[in-house]
Amino acid sequence: MIIVHAGSEVVPFSKTGGLADVLGALPLSLGKMSHDAIIVSPLYKSVMERLKPGKPALTFTIRLNDENITADIYSLKINERVTAYFIANDSLFLRDGLYVDRNNIDYKDNSKRFIFLSRAVLELIQRLNIEPDVIHSHDWQTGLVPVYMKTLYKERFSRAVSVFTIHNIGYQGTFWHFDMPLTGLGWEYFTSDYLEFYGKISFLKAGIVFADAVTTVSPTYSREILNPEFGYGMEGILKTRRSDLFGILNGVDYEEWSPEHDKFIPNQYSTDTIELKRDDKMVLNRMFNLDHNDAPVIGMITRLARQKGIDLVINAAARIISMGFKLVLLGSGDKPYEDKMKEIANRYKGRFGVRIGFDNSLAHLIEAGSDLFLMPSVYEPCGLNQMYSLRFGTVPVVRATGGLNDTIVEYNPSSEKGNGFKFRERNADDMLSALKRAMDVFNEQSKWLRLVKTGMSYDFSWDRSAEHYELLYKAYSIKSLLHGYSDGNSSPDT
Ligand code: ADP
Repeated sequence: MIIVHAGSEVVPFSKTGGLADVLGALPLSLGKMSHDAIIVSPLYKSVMERLKPGKPALTFTIRLNDENITADIYSLKINERVTAYFIANDSLFLRDGLYVDRNNIDYKDNSKRFIFLSRAVLELIQRLNIEPDVIHSHDWQTGLVPVYMKTLYKERFSRAVSVFTIHNIGYQGTFWHFDMPLTGLGWEYFTSDYLEFYGKISFLKAGIVFADAVTTVSPTYSREILNPEFGYGMEGILKTRRSDLFGILNGVDYEEWSPEHDKFIPNQYSTDTIELKRDDKMVLNRMFNLDHNDAPVIGMITRLARQKGIDLVINAAARIISMGFKLVLLGSGDKPYEDKMKEIANRYKGRFGVRIGFDNSLAHLIEAGSDLFLMPSVYEPCGLNQMYSLRFGTVPVVRATGGLNDTIVEYNPSSEKGNGFKFRERNADDMLSALKRAMDVFNEQSKWLRLVKTGMSYDFSWDRSAEHYELLYKAYSIKSLLHGYSDGNSSPDT
């Protein structure tokens, strides 16, 4: 098959979260399975610095409302089967931030930027003369792709299947209705059956309504978002798409996230040399000016947003410390959380270390040097760090939601089955009791070691997830072929 992946960030060129990891890894796994994969994403400043592009492979313009906007296309052949295309328009994309300015405020022209991206994706495929079997778009930034496939580009892409993945339903790309003309779609699409969402336009809703198949990044999250508590207003529309809604767990790129060959950590280790993990812990202790002792270290690497359960950590910080834990946190995001975390670190010097910022190499050291990894998320579509933590022998303590629920199995000290600790209720007491259960096992070092090694043996590689996507692509391709056949558009030979 020829599979196009369109998304607004891709590792190693641009990243704000898990979406980038998916765009960077899934196409490569599909390539390994002998499919041809194409990645389409914007050329931001970070991409420019890494790619150092020469001449554009292609240039075209797209008319948005009254304006002709130029797209310069730069291509990068990643391997025989996978090619990335970066869409450049300096005034729209050549910025430091992907979606927000340095004060964490959304760029005012985000609707224009991502309408342009969605149009450019289809325009590009058309101009490259590619006949894709699947066009898979991700999150609100490319939510209009499935819409355009059934409207403005209907004739051209009638045989391609559209798949839309929701990586986080909390981000919906809602814009005022005055942006409707920018989309190039008529006002007849500004109704509650299509793009209208509480008086505004929602690009996320657009993707959900128009895609042939809708997926989310874990089975539990695909069920959770059908309820008002998790659906952020989309639960009604999702229920109408229930039979086309699937949950496929993200995978882990073990090339990057494995302690045996991790280039960011000072001491590489495996299950056979697990004692070296302690050396990484000591480096981590020093890095965060923590007391030099063996007390269990809890690691956290997170966006500082309500979604990540930061309030629970703030409320329980004193009790976490008094239980005998140390905690290191790397994160950035909402200013009040950043300030609060710095204040707590100041109060508990030697026990609570905080770094505000985005730092991939430090993230690796935290995975390697921590004993436990805490993810008390309010909701978590998939979550990656709990899976990285397992491979690093860092025992996850998580709230039982979304992908955290699907990947972490509560440890049973009698049978020694399970790989971590889970709590259900969204309150500090429940979180603390999970941490207490973890501490009890930590204090029985031989048991703890077996738990650590069990975690390290789990396999959440991308190849497995890619097989699920392949199945979905095939199923919907057959469905589309059969529909085409019964509509008289295809002969049985095709
Ligand atoms: P989300 O996409 O909701 O932020 P995920 O767990 O799916 O959460 O993915 C987050 C990714 O971003 C992980 O790879 C994590 O290691 C990384 N990450 C998050 N915050 C930071 C940070 N401050 N520094 C380095 N990496 C970070």
